[in-house]
Amino acid sequence: MTSNEDAFARARRVIPGGVDSPVRAFGSVGGAPRFIERAHGAYVYDVDGREYVDLVGSWGPALLGHAHPQVVSAVQAAAARGLSFGAPTVAEAELAELIRDRVPLAERVRLVSTGTEATMTAIRLARGATGRDLLVKFAGCYHGHSDALLVAAGSGLATAGLPASAGVPASTVASTIVVPYNDAAAVRAVFAERGEEIAAVITEPAAANMGVVPPEPGFNELLRELTSASGALLIYDEVLVGFRVHASGWWGLEGRTVAPDLFTFGKVVGGGMPLAALGGRRDVMDLLAPLGPVYQAGTLSGNPLATAAGIATLGLADDSVYAAVNAAAAELGSAVSAALDGAGVPHRLQRAGSLFSVFLGLSEPVRDYATAQRQHTGAYAAFFHSLLDAGVALPPSAFEAWFVSAAHTGSVLERVVAALPAAAVAAGTALADGH
Ligand SMILES: *Cc1c(COP(=O)(O)O)cnc(C)c1O
Repeated sequence: MTSNEDAFARARRVIPGGVDSPVRAFGSVGGAPRFIERAHGAYVYDVDGREYVDLVGSWGPALLGHAHPQVVSAVQAAAARGLSFGAPTVAEAELAELIRDRVPLAERVRLVSTGTEATMTAIRLARGATGRDLLVKFAGCYHGHSDALLVAAGSGLATAGLPASAGVPASTVASTIVVPYNDAAAVRAVFAERGEEIAAVITEPAAANMGVVPPEPGFNELLRELTSASGALLIYDEVLVGFRVHASGWWGLEGRTVAPDLFTFGKVVGGGMPLAALGGRRDVMDLLAPLGPVYQAGTLSGNPLATAAGIATLGLADDSVYAAVNAAAAELGSAVSAALDGAGVPHRLQRAGSLFSVFLGLSEPVRDYATAQRQHTGAYAAFFHSLLDAGVALPPSAFEAWFVSAAHTGSVLERVVAALPAAAVAAGTALADGH
């Protein structure tokens, strides 16, 4: 049997940083990442044979819990019929219909393999549809790692302390305007000055990649008003919140009060397999090749295994699943706050539906990225490691949402709650030490 340390050392000798996605490296909390061997329900198991209550949930997809038997058997059945055809399948239309049933504004849907591809394509589509180049995004919102969107992005980048990324051309950055989240005056000013040049505003309709920062009342409505008035498109990037916070995503949870032109989906929609989607207004979506001039393609797009996982996951994600996820988030969120209060640790717990995160060392509302960056990441690292030692795996970064699933019930939650007071004390000690 190999240990996490050995596995990490081996990986680092062949994979940059030992990981295939940066936040997994534990860079901001320290120590060796847990190398996972298997997962089931609310639990993950590492190569040391230790069991953890998992609050990462593969960063969102595991809405039903890990390895749900019906999802696994759907994927196995699909695998037995062939792994990839490079030709259309009936299942792709079935999944696209399931998405449209939940979000009828997604009149047409295209399946891709990652959230990054979905948002990248949505941007290209918006530029193609409007004949304009400028893009507006919000500081701290993460939309994947394509060039145009790697400007003041959150989570992994926040953790690494990088403002953007090397290798992104200055010319690309020049066509992306970054505005503070929830800053109505700043968005108005950008539209007043350059409204005619703006192709699209892309937003996380509830931000969850700088920690959880919900939109202030009227903010998403304002984005719709300004984009409509200037002929720009509004893109709701629901890769993280879509089909997680509500059957119809954030759009459904907020009451269908805003009508975006385009949506992007990922994470839950692929049920743990590499699948994402973009959808939206038929006249805009039909500009995609082969009908229109905006090119997009993918050898593995609509892959049969991924499509099977998505269909099974959406099929199972009924009201009872959302109720269970909401209940788990509510219970856990209150317990976290109570434990931190008990240890006298100033903090701010923020929610967006069933997503929540905690900002340590802050007590004012976190409405934007600048405020999120004032949290005490050292206190989070102490909190994180205390919980990890107790068998609870939080996201290894203070800038991430915590993910619960329908499998986070009863004894699973009790185990987390029991571990919180000691973690809160550890966080308090780190705060007092000032590092
Ligand atoms: C995760 C995420 C993406 C990128 O998706 P990948 O599948 O990791 O490429 C895009 N937008 C949001 C809001 C996300 O949370």
